[in-house]
Amino acid sequence: MFKKILIANRGEIACRVIKTARRMGIATVAIYSEADADAVHVEMADEAVAIGPAPASQSYLVADRIIAACKETGAEAVHPGYGFLSENADFCERLEAEGIVFIGPKPKAIRAMGDKITSKKIAAQAGVSTVPGFMGLIKDAAHAARIAAEIGYPVMIKASAGGGGKGMRVAGNDVEAREGFERSRSEAASSFGDDRIFIEKFIEEPRHIEIQVLADAFGNFIHLGERECSIQRRNQKVVEEAPSPFLDEATRQAMGSQAVALAKAVDYQSAGTVEFIVDRNRNFYFLEMNTRLQVEHPVTELVTGIDLVEQMIRIAAGERLQITQEEVKLEGWAIESRLYAEDPTRNFLPSIGRLARYRPPAEGRYGSIVVRNDTGVAEGSEISMFYDPMIAKLCAHAPDRPGAIDAMAAALDRFVIDGIAHNIPFLAALMRHPRWREGRLSTAFIAEEYPEGFSIPRAGKTERAVFCAVALAIELIRRDRLDRLPGRLGPHSGDLRRDWVVKLDQDYVPVSLVEGMISIPAELDVSIEGAPPVTLTSSWRPGEPIWEGRIGRREIAVQVRPVLNGYELSWQGVASVAKMMTPRVAELDRLMPERATPDTSKKLLCPMPGLVVSIAVKEGQEVKAGEVLAVVEAMKMENVLRAERDCTIAAINAGPGDSLAVDAVIMEFA
Ligand code: ADP
Ligand code: ADP
Ligand code: MG
Repeated sequence: MFKKILIANRGEIACRVIKTARRMGIATVAIYSEADADAVHVEMADEAVAIGPAPASQSYLVADRIIAACKETGAEAVHPGYGFLSENADFCERLEAEGIVFIGPKPKAIRAMGDKITSKKIAAQAGVSTVPGFMGLIKDAAHAARIAAEIGYPVMIKASAGGGGKGMRVAGNDVEAREGFERSRSEAASSFGDDRIFIEKFIEEPRHIEIQVLADAFGNFIHLGERECSIQRRNQKVVEEAPSPFLDEATRQAMGSQAVALAKAVDYQSAGTVEFIVDRNRNFYFLEMNTRLQVEHPVTELVTGIDLVEQMIRIAAGERLQITQEEVKLEGWAIESRLYAEDPTRNFLPSIGRLARYRPPAEGRYGSIVVRNDTGVAEGSEISMFYDPMIAKLCAHAPDRPGAIDAMAAALDRFVIDGIAHNIPFLAALMRHPRWREGRLSTAFIAEEYPEGFSIPRAGKTERAVFCAVALAIELIRRDRLDRLPGRLGPHSGDLRRDWVVKLDQDYVPVSLVEGMISIPAELDVSIEGAPPVTLTSSWRPGEPIWEGRIGRREIAVQVRPVLNGYELSWQGVASVAKMMTPRVAELDRLMPERATPDTSKKLLCPMPGLVVSIAVKEGQEVKAGEVLAVVEAMKMENVLRAERDCTIAAINAGPGDSLAVDAVIMEFA
């Protein structure tokens, strides 16, 4: 076994690999860029080597620096994580030449599977079912339209070198095929340095289901069942689960044996994933093989009890696989939510900055439930524009799917992040979504269920009752504490007030304290809007970001954020602002005029921090709804900003190459 390994990655996956290595008694070396000098993975590793400036192209992607770091520290092997150099066959060969072991497959397999066109051909030869399409290269936009029409619309236009959902577009007609080809090609060239494009049939109502495989150097191949990753946004996974609610045992076995057949065809070694797209009739088609540890590997670990990183390390060290296919048992249900630094209410645009507060729920076992959180950040860490905007991967495991969903919802309620926008409200809303709960999924789920984008749901009856009760409990504890402050003249609030009004968003809700003990832990009987009283107990203290307690029989965790004259309360993806008033103040408050929000309808605001690639219009020009106004690049994605309605351009305030902050005014309309 290795004595020391280097992890050629950052963030959560570097931390994840370090954890297993440590458990195996292997010393670890981290590498870090200038932006990551204080990162968690650097802190966690036994040693750390600085390898260059913040941009990955000058640090995490520079093979020479990584090899030098291995030599300097005596690391015998390199775990590449995912992304960066994990699927770079040249890097493997360089390591091999230096006598350093690559913890992953052999360069030949990486090369064969690294290119979507080649891998599709190999898969077809190995008897794996593939998506119908044109296996050649597409020359230009006209060629794209011709091929697409031959395959039959809708089609998927893809970059052969693509990954992470980039360089990929659906086209439903000739115009879209031409435009899609140009955009995919330009994105592929800038993201992957390879602009080869191919086209295949778009599978309708598709579900993304993938098979985890493991293989050693002695010809032993097994698969560890499937993961379903159909909850995607722009072809990027957001929520994954194992097993899939859609597969029957026969389909699982068929997919598993095809995945193993493909792994055999390329002499695969290590952990790998064969991705399939599955149609509504459970026909499945090969998409690609990822020759690395996958982001969503924890759900497989939770249902199989197998540590995939440990297996990768053992296989790379020349050990024989100790698990047979018969021994692989899938137990219970696991769900992973990817927490991203993005604003779900603003079309999921990236949000960067410092994590002013970062308090994940405690990991571990709660009865039959397991909570796991893979992360590479801590309170005070910065989510920078240089790297992936993922904050954490929160996983829950339970005996069955409804249990896992509820456990995920409970864990999300207890995950506090402040300082940047994040998608927890979206994930929490998803956990309550009836179609998700039924397991009727497709990769279009988010687009179909949130056609107008996502907005934080308004409080319904249950949430109103919860928020009002919690608001009253908070207010009473807060006043009680104020009354006890030293130096104050006796309890000047006088008798405990029993009748209150909670201004919840725009509504005035009468609440009253029927009886109760204010000392902590508090126990209060509260009546909301004249309803029969419910008993509420909690040990919450002022300043705590989560109010945890019981209302009636229900265990509840409500997040509490102070705002002007009140609190923002959030629970299960619903948020409301609660302000406590005496009935008299509430009466007067109703008379106050509302402050109007400023009108930005005549401006094109930059939706995210980014770089202006091009401005498509001129001052004075008339544009129709849907026409392109500008292209802004952020996180390697080109975002096309279009006119929402017919308008005339009055002024243009930005030009190509400008680096803009969120909400910067790009242009104004007449
Ligand atoms: P898939 O495996 O289908 O591509 P995943 O969500 O598992 O989807 O992986 C995300 C993709 O984004 C991977 O292909 C990986 O190569 C890429 N990726 C993830 N993180 C980074 C990163 N920090 N830098 C560069 N690429 C990354
Ligand atoms: P990447 O390397 O970016 O992960 P994939 O080929 O794995 O690229 O595709 C990513 C996602 O795009 C899939 O999970 C699926 O949602 C969608 N997709 C890809 N090809 C097709 C297709 N032919 N029909 C329908 N959806 C597809
Ligand atoms: Mg993929």
